[in-house]
Amino acid sequence: MKPNDALNFRKSRSFDCKRCGQHVETKEGELDRRTKFCSALCSRRYFRHPNKQR
Ligand SMILES: [Zn+2]
Repeated sequence: MKPNDALNFRKSRSFDCKRCGQHVETKEGELDRRTKFCSALCSRRYFRHPNKQR
């Protein structure tokens, strides 16, 4: 990873979790690589069962 990419992760962002729909806001100055999911658990479950919805 380039140093510039890491810097971008330190900016505040907001998004909705692709799996559970939870609104997520990251804090400026904190390293946070989340861009689509509220947690690692959601990203793991999303990719494990991409077509299954309960
Ligand atoms: Zn989620």
